[in-house]
Amino acid sequence: MRKLTILGATGSIGASTLKVVAENKEQFEVFALAAGRNVAKMRALCETWRPTYAVMATAEAAQALQSELSNSKLATEVLYGEEAMCHVASCAEVDTVMAAIVGAAGLVPTMAAVKAGKRILLANKEALVMSGQLFIDAVERHGAELLPVDSEHNAIFQCLPAQVQTQMGRCDLAGAGVSHIILTGSGGPFRYTDVSELAAVTPAQAIAHPNWSMGPKISVDSATMMNKGLEYIEARWLFNAAKEQLQVLIHPQSVIHSMVQYLDGSVMAQLGEPDMATPISVTMNYPERIQAGVRPLDFTQISELTFMAPDFSRYPCLGLAIDACYLGQHATTSLNAANEIAVDAFLKGHIRFTDIARVNESTLSKVCATNTSLHSYDLESLLELDTMARRQARQIIKERML
Ligand code: NAD
Ligand code: MG
Repeated sequence: MRKLTILGATGSIGASTLKVVAENKEQFEVFALAAGRNVAKMRALCETWRPTYAVMATAEAAQALQSELSNSKLATEVLYGEEAMCHVASCAEVDTVMAAIVGAAGLVPTMAAVKAGKRILLANKEALVMSGQLFIDAVERHGAELLPVDSEHNAIFQCLPAQVQTQMGRCDLAGAGVSHIILTGSGGPFRYTDVSELAAVTPAQAIAHPNWSMGPKISVDSATMMNKGLEYIEARWLFNAAKEQLQVLIHPQSVIHSMVQYLDGSVMAQLGEPDMATPISVTMNYPERIQAGVRPLDFTQISELTFMAPDFSRYPCLGLAIDACYLGQHATTSLNAANEIAVDAFLKGHIRFTDIARVNESTLSKVCATNTSLHSYDLESLLELDTMARRQARQIIKERML
């Protein structure tokens, strides 16, 4: 039986993970659940799953959960804060950690799981984007097992030969006969909107993704295609891919979740319903396939599969992220930080949709004016860089009164 800690249990990926556990109850035990502040949701999850630990981000949330759980006489121990998240991600009782906290907040607990040599099911792409080589080196040094949950990376993973699947972070793509990998993306809700109308789109319109149901931050990232940019950087690290081995393609139907092109002209693709339970279940009991509770793809309902090259004037965040990928760690860490601040400001109605790219670009150029790619980072200095970039981004929003 696999013992599972779910970081980000109350979110969209957390829910899909528990849906897969419910399909395979004899194979998994939920050891710990961790989340931000959603006490009502965590209470319901504790009542259903009866974990040994429930961890909340803050003392207030933990206190509220504790008093709710004492009424229901559960033995679940309630903890709070980053140290407790690290504990439930690294303690000896756990073998598998779903890393599904949104944003940079997930880095330290995910890294704790890596350092404890766990099987890491990685959904939290921001953690890898902001730590890159440091993360991959830690996976290797501590003998952790890294399995991609992000649907594109999971699709690529499935299209690679078995010997490459066990080499996440140090793949020899060329040696395996791979010419390049093709990351597909739907283009989000505004793929056909006139570019001149993008400044006026609302948060509600931006989070209404045409194909996937996801948390608010990644939904906005999908609308700007910053999500594909973060995934580009994620793919660079996961698959040890060089610039000429990475391509992005818009595929509005989200039926193909990504592809691998081989030297001999063959293209391997992974297809399926747009339901995260599929990629999650691929990782949960890897290499064995388990039931995901996802309906089979009905080819008679798919009228066409179409593809187009991304238009960088519609999606400036995608171009920024690809550029940052080759500028160095300082660039990707600060771009990720700026984007988290900008998306949050957009969701709160403080800036326009098109300002997200402006905030990201200005922050990136300020950080790059004083930092170089030569610097090598430890965890602490990456976190400092993240804090500094957030401060810059907030300042840019404030000064420009966007
Ligand atoms: P979500 O907003 O639905 O859930 C986020 C979770 O993180 C919640 O449980 C929340 O409580 C928790 N959280 C937030 N701040 C926290 C903090 N400071 N400490 C501890 N927990 C905190 O987001 P999501 O859509 O589930 O996405 C989670 C991650 O998975 C993101 O990194 C996202 O990019 C990635 N991802 C999501 C999808 C998807 O379909 N939803 C697909 C691919 C990758
Ligand atoms: Mg994805």
